[in-house]
Amino acid sequence: MDLGKQMNAVRRIVSVALGALALLAAVIAVRTATYAPPGGKDSHPVELAARVPIDPARAAQHLSEAVRIQTVSHQNAGDNDWAEWDRLHAWLQTTYPAAHAAMSREVVGGHALVYTWPGSDPSLPAVVLLAHHDVVPVTPGTERDWKHPPFDGVIADGSVWGRGSVDDKGSLVGLFEGVEALAASGFKPRRTVILVSGHDEEAGGSGARAAAELLKSRGVTAEFVLDEGLAIVSDFPLLGRPVAVVGIAEKGYATLRMTAPAKGGHSSAPPPETGVEVLAKALLAVTSHPFPLRFEGAPAEMVRALAPSASTVVRMAVANEWLFRPLLIKQIAATPVGASSLHTTIAPTMLRGSPKENVLPQDATAWINYRIAPGNTTGDVMQRAKTATKGLRVDLAWEGNAYDPSPISSSSSEPYRLIAALASDDGRTPVAPGLVTATTDSRSMVGIAKDIYRFQPIVASLKDFEMIHGTNEHMTLDNLRRTAEFYARLIATAAR
Ligand SMILES: [Zn+2]
Repeated sequence: MDLGKQMNAVRRIVSVALGALALLAAVIAVRTATYAPPGGKDSHPVELAARVPIDPARAAQHLSEAVRIQTVSHQNAGDNDWAEWDRLHAWLQTTYPAAHAAMSREVVGGHALVYTWPGSDPSLPAVVLLAHHDVVPVTPGTERDWKHPPFDGVIADGSVWGRGSVDDKGSLVGLFEGVEALAASGFKPRRTVILVSGHDEEAGGSGARAAAELLKSRGVTAEFVLDEGLAIVSDFPLLGRPVAVVGIAEKGYATLRMTAPAKGGHSSAPPPETGVEVLAKALLAVTSHPFPLRFEGAPAEMVRALAPSASTVVRMAVANEWLFRPLLIKQIAATPVGASSLHTTIAPTMLRGSPKENVLPQDATAWINYRIAPGNTTGDVMQRAKTATKGLRVDLAWEGNAYDPSPISSSSSEPYRLIAALASDDGRTPVAPGLVTATTDSRSMVGIAKDIYRFQPIVASLKDFEMIHGTNEHMTLDNLRRTAEFYARLIATAAR
């Protein structure tokens, strides 16, 4: 071939390639410009009931009183001071008389509370609202880091301070303020309203399970269930402004106990391989087989829902997922929190060898905590660990109960749209569905309702959320008012 012919062939190839690129760019541009999230257009907006006035000073006083009652869930329930739970129950009864006149009250599973506000139309599915009333302990040695003592319920600087003021007595008090205001105003629900307050959410959630069993035994079905979980993040990473995230699914939870049985004996004459070495190999084998990162389910729905409010780059990536999915995964997984939303996480947390430095272990044990993403099961986790440790002499077993992830609730149902309408501050705040990576009592309610949501109507920054289970937990008076108004209007709308 002469040089001229060669040049012509190259030109043809280049022009075809350029044409393909231009076409690709056009497709990307058009898809970006016309992107709408699935189900994004709200054809008939939710008609909210009128606002119910709440007295914020009274609510703050009540939350302060609730914080002072020390319903602290310890790792070992035998260490709990159950008299404090009884005190809280009695306090609820005297503090909210109209609510208690309107609802029947039952104590189940030891100290869990189930309230029923019967609707005038029993054929309608109920509304079930959850808020647990136990709190986690204050880490010994950190008491002095608190601006105000953790169980004094001090009201200062526009907040109620103390353990449980947000998680979850803030919700409990907000819920009761709302019900009290509605009941006192003469409101009669058409749909039955059920409140469930677990007594041990922070220690396994047996109370919520007992409540769920009771409701199931009565054949109760719910239009929806609402519990704590996610909230309004004031500095949401994707947008850099407030976003209300409503949990539509929750990860599963399991802890794997891995034991390497060994001979033991004097460490001066070790065998070729000690139990600790076998265990170390097995542990690395498990963690070097991570679950693949996937852009799907609740986290993907979240990004898709927010894309129209996000930067052009984000919108372009989401509108052209077929091309940019690997990039989206890489970006989201750049932080541990982001990565945890995209797959089942594997976290070795505890190790045990021999009791003394010159003693060979008779069994070496590791504990691995898993948070199981929707799409995987406890069975998948066990199978993957077994495959990874094939050929290594280790025994695998669950430590305690292992829980599958929740089903995924609808992000277009009537109840979701109601919660979103209330969470959006009259449309000013974008709302998106999300995945709860921790666990809540709501996991017991699978089977009572198809749609289970996890949302606390408070606004806080990512930094602020570190106070939950940490130091200086406090509920701003604005968030408390917001919570009480949210529940009152939610019930007034859903049960009218
Ligand atoms: Zn909680």
